[in-house]
Amino acid sequence: MAHVVILGAGVGGMSMAYDMREQARAQDKITVVSNHPYFQFKPSNPWVAVNWRTRDDTTVDVGPLLERKGIDFIAVGCRRVHPERNALELEDGHEIAYDFLIVATNPKLAFVEVEGLGPNGHTDSVCHVNHAVHAGKVWKGFIMDTDLRRRRIRSKVPMTFVTAEPYIGHLGLGGVGDSKGLLESAMRHRHVKWICNAKVTRVEEGKMHVAEHNEDGQVKKEHVLPFKYSMMLPAFKGIDAVFGVEGLANPRGFILIDEYQRNPRYRNIYAVGVCVAIPPVETTPVPTGAPKTGYMIETRCGRLRTTSARCWTATSRIRRRPGTPSAWPTSAIPARPSSPCRRSRRATSTGSRKASGCIWPRSRSRSTSCASRKKGQPSRCTRNTSWAYLASRS
Ligand SMILES: Cc1cc2nc3c(=O)[nH]c(=O)nc-3n(C[C@H](O)[C@H](O)[C@H](O)COP(=O)(O)OP(=O)(O)OC[C@H]3O[C@@H](n4cnc5c(N)ncnc54)[C@H](O)[C@@H]3O)c2cc1C
Repeated sequence: MAHVVILGAGVGGMSMAYDMREQARAQDKITVVSNHPYFQFKPSNPWVAVNWRTRDDTTVDVGPLLERKGIDFIAVGCRRVHPERNALELEDGHEIAYDFLIVATNPKLAFVEVEGLGPNGHTDSVCHVNHAVHAGKVWKGFIMDTDLRRRRIRSKVPMTFVTAEPYIGHLGLGGVGDSKGLLESAMRHRHVKWICNAKVTRVEEGKMHVAEHNEDGQVKKEHVLPFKYSMMLPAFKGIDAVFGVEGLANPRGFILIDEYQRNPRYRNIYAVGVCVAIPPVETTPVPTGAPKTGYMIETRCGRLRTTSARCWTATSRIRRRPGTPSAWPTSAIPARPSSPCRRSRRATSTGSRKASGCIWPRSRSRSTSCASRKKGQPSRCTRNTSWAYLASRS
């Protein structure tokens, strides 16, 4: 039996939990560990922040959902990951041993890096549903442009968009199509001013201090922006549970992974979602990270599903050997097999496939499974159905 632990019950964690249950053998145990008992649909947080949706509309308790699928759920945060002994130390002092760990946690919101930033300071946030609820209370019904227009007071409320991006529409991607032109035009149309290459240095009540940089990264101009309401996303870091774990996380606390979503040093640890280390797409005067969207995360989950199942297959073979250590030698897991599961191709009958430790369904080809699916059955190609479904619900 293998114990697969998934850390986090967000977009990445829930997707992986369902995928792993589907892929694993009946005797394998899947456990989700999360510091909240609920899933929150973060893209709806801005609506919660302006009271167009309630917290209940955008969150759902995951315990019963996972239980229905035969997945264990522990609603306790992880204090520390101990990869050397394949264990998680939980906030309540308990330890969970794992054979495989999938890290799918959100980042730590680094409000502390700017004095006065965040819900405990002078600005609001929509990075967590609790922040969004707070924001909604602070500014009842203030949804920037639309709500103010509805109230016919938009002209009385000047607005400034402050961003680290070198230009509007950069999006951390160096722009997408004509995103620069389109977004600049939308901002102008709505009389929103902007400051790019900006670094917020300090926030005090009603005042934000912003340093605008030139293309060489030198401070070009210092701004003091008076405000009555401020929505400001902080920089992201890795969570404390992995911060400083040598070989697992980078200096900023993001999980290091290879092209298979697997940590190069601890090869029974995988990561998916916003917690992974992704280099910026290009260097910008003020650092601008690559966006990690839900859509992209679901795609990565598909890749991880392929890799992890491949490794399980290899591992189940290893574990049958007497005296196998609990932490497998990294050489035991094939670095790059030529196919998702060689043995599943070699072993043709279901019996021989199972006996060989293969946990894959016979058809691994997406096109085949789509072609052969019956009318009305969900398509394996539409990996984003759950995302689309949640989006449609919110
Ligand atoms: C305001 C906003 C709008 C967005 N809009 C879009 C959009 O329109 N389209 C899009 O594609 N993406 C959007 N995104 C991005 C998308 O929401 C994220 O990419 C996605 O939620 C990240 O998924 P994840 O699984 O990596 O992390 P999350 O969904 O954040 O889940 C992380 C999980 O880890 C758990 N956790 C954290 N720390 C611990 C710990 N120590 N121990 C145990 N569990 C822990 C959390 O409780 C949570 O369950 C938006 C994000 C925000 C904030």
